Amino acid sequence: MCHYCLDCGWRLSTSDGYTDTEVSERAIDHFVETGHTVESVWLPPPVVANH
Ligand SMILES: [Zn+2]
Repeated sequence: MCHYCLDCGWRLSTSDGYTDTEVSERAIDHFVETGHTVESVWLPPPVVANH
């Protein structure tokens, strides 16, 4: 999971060594502290079974 801010360069990803929970909590903290809009995307994208 990767969270990133639309209003500044803030971003945090599970690929940086954080858990999903930590990334989500820090994203909420950033929103609360700054009022910025934080978007989230799956990185890497989820593996889709190819039937
Ligand atoms: Zn921001």
